[in-house]
Amino acid sequence: MALTLDPELRRALAERVRYCHEMGIYDFYRRESGPAEFKEPESAASEVLSASLSATSTVLQSELREEMSARKSAAVPSVAEDNILEIKLIREDLGECTRCKLHQQGRKQIVFGVGNPRAELMFVGEGPGADEDTQGEPFVGRAGQLLNNMIKAMGLRREDIYIANIVKCRPPGNRTPERDECETCSPFLMRQIAVVKPKVIVALGAVAAKNLLAINAPMSELRGRWYDFKPAGVRSGDPSWPGARLAVTYHPAFLLRDPRQKGEAWKDLQMVMKYLGIEPPKKAAE
Ligand code: SF4
Repeated sequence: MALTLDPELRRALAERVRYCHEMGIYDFYRRESGPAEFKEPESAASEVLSASLSATSTVLQSELREEMSARKSAAVPSVAEDNILEIKLIREDLGECTRCKLHQQGRKQIVFGVGNPRAELMFVGEGPGADEDTQGEPFVGRAGQLLNNMIKAMGLRREDIYIANIVKCRPPGNRTPERDECETCSPFLMRQIAVVKPKVIVALGAVAAKNLLAINAPMSELRGRWYDFKPAGVRSGDPSWPGARLAVTYHPAFLLRDPRQKGEAWKDLQMVMKYLGIEPPKKAAE
């Protein structure tokens, strides 16, 4: 039966469906109508909303399926194209985000994330600094230059990797992002991870590691071992993806302050390279 909804209601319900998807809720069920019974006005309204939500989800999903099959009949999209679209959707959902207080503490722009949407390797830092805030891309300042050198030393190119941060807006004065800010922002990072489906994630620094792993431990304990990682609260579109392995190393900004630790960071990256089967260029490994 064709369903006609008021455009405003439809928009609101679409928003609700999208919100549910963000929260990891994908399936909606419509309660069978039982014998007629008295309903409080509020509960009746809630049932109408629930039925509409279910119907709208069905309509939206069927529209999505039609769009997908139209796309398929025109040309079979590659996984990379699908990933690009899904990443774009996450960016659209984020919008001009005001979900946490960092939106009003001097950010110039949101620094969403950048790189290969099918990367086998993903780096996750803490949050944007001044250069990133200006350019809208993670790791573009001095620390970014060092990260680029680290990537090159591994025999890879920056465009092979996906790079993102725990929070997408610059904390004022480069302070450490606060817990509520990380918790509010990280669902979007989780969705990015679930789309990219990397084999390995490298957490850059203690803040990234603690937020991804929900472990409170010093760097000396966090580094030098593997963790199994699955993005919390998100269902990957690929049930065959087993999750990523996660390693922890120093943040490049820390290595700029204490270059003696570069050798230790290189050990961490060598562990990653071994797992990914990457042979370093001879000169870089010396
Ligand atoms: S840090 Fe994240 S949650 Fe907070 S305003 Fe920026 S994009 Fe939104």
